[in-house]
Amino acid sequence: MKDNKISKNIIDILSSVGFPVISGGLFIVWVIYFIKNPVITFPLISIIVLDLYYFSGRVHAGVLASFASASALLGIAFIDDGFSSFLVLLEGAQLVAFYFVLKMYDDHYISMKNRMQEEYETLDREITLKDSEIKENSKRTEAIIQQMDNFQTLGRIIQTFEASLDEREIIYKSGELASKFIGNGEWKLKKNVYGDVFAKYIKTSGIPLIITDFSTDRRFPMLQNKDVSVIAVPVDVNGSFWGILIGTSPGKNAFRDSDLRLLSILSGIISAVLNNAYLYVKIQELAITDGLTGLYTQSYFKERLKEEMKRARSNKVPLSVAVLDIDFFKKINDRYGHRSGDVILSQVAALLRGRFRETDLLSRYGGEEFGVIMLHTDDDEAVKILEEVRAGIEKERFFLPIESYSPIQVKITVSIGFAGLEVGGTAAVEDELIKKADKALYKAKNSGRNRTVRYANEQ
Ligand code: GH3
Ligand code: MG
Ligand code: MG
Repeated sequence: MKDNKISKNIIDILSSVGFPVISGGLFIVWVIYFIKNPVITFPLISIIVLDLYYFSGRVHAGVLASFASASALLGIAFIDDGFSSFLVLLEGAQLVAFYFVLKMYDDHYISMKNRMQEEYETLDREITLKDSEIKENSKRTEAIIQQMDNFQTLGRIIQTFEASLDEREIIYKSGELASKFIGNGEWKLKKNVYGDVFAKYIKTSGIPLIITDFSTDRRFPMLQNKDVSVIAVPVDVNGSFWGILIGTSPGKNAFRDSDLRLLSILSGIISAVLNNAYLYVKIQELAITDGLTGLYTQSYFKERLKEEMKRARSNKVPLSVAVLDIDFFKKINDRYGHRSGDVILSQVAALLRGRFRETDLLSRYGGEEFGVIMLHTDDDEAVKILEEVRAGIEKERFFLPIESYSPIQVKITVSIGFAGLEVGGTAAVEDELIKKADKALYKAKNSGRNRTVRYANEQ
């Protein structure tokens, strides 16, 4: 660094002072000499060319300079004059000056070149490093984007999965979800896995299981020769062991520890969804009114019938049970759509509520079937009331929720079967009474519909 500075200074001094002085001196001497002896034009021109080159900054015209100086010297050699030796001296000085200037420029150039080479190599190394960093980063970005995509897909799957309320559907979808979550392997959600060695292990230990190589795993010596990997996590419902989510894949080392973390998350989701489904079933069982019609549910109806039959028997009072079924309801669904069918069902329910008495207990017994318990009602009174209801429905117009120029209305009819609890008789349990009413309904359907039929023993 220091050397470079010194040589640069020398070059600067030589270039800016020494050389122009020598060249200028030479030029003046040559002009005088030319006036005295105009024959030696050639060396003079050479000197002028050299100086022009120098002042134009093209120092590497050194070759030309040397040539010019040599020519000048040659020219001078032919002149026998008092100035000649002085001129030769000056020319020599110029040549020497040139030599140093060129050499220093050369050294300077070489050290510059080396420094630049070094800098270039450092830069190159940095660029290569940055290049690989960029590549690494873009790979990472791609992986993140891919992961985000995966999570989005998973999110969508989980959303539909979370809406599942059916155990079989949840079991099926869980396997599908696990293979999307982890990628490789065959996945199963297993319930009550008695006899399954892995399930037994997980149930007793309470921890997840991962086996990447059976030959070195001492927990399952009987499976030592199996060339398969296994990963499994417990699935709890309501705080107790429900089953396992298990993945198997041929070959060793098919799963990693990080897969366990994902699986634990998944088993948590599955637990929650299963819990939901079981709660839903429980709520359904506990519900006493039907969502569409607001009437009592079948289970509540049966429960109440059991009680009312007991009470009627002990109080020795009559009781009747009727089943009403809408005629050709399927055709309405087929023609106007399921939603229209739903609307008619709720309108029929409202109509029944208005036509039956306060003491009659109404239920939606099935899809388009209604059950009624008529307390303190014998067969004769029952038939009267039921006939009034049937006729009322036959007269009614039902409006459909379909957009059209004029409202669409339909008329429907119902068939009714009923059976009475014999006063003081060896009465049947509630199921039998309903069965009797059903049989009567069957007869009503078979004998032309839109009628009320009483159960008779011969049926
Ligand atoms: P039938 O006179 O013999 O009783 O003929 P039907 O068409 O009424 O009887 P079927 O038992 O063949 O069909 C009953 C139909 O009731 C089929 C089903 O689509 C419809 N259904 C049952 N529950 C619902 C419901 O909640 N909403 C709607 N829209 N339709 C229902
Ligand atoms: Mg029916
Ligand atoms: Mg019907």
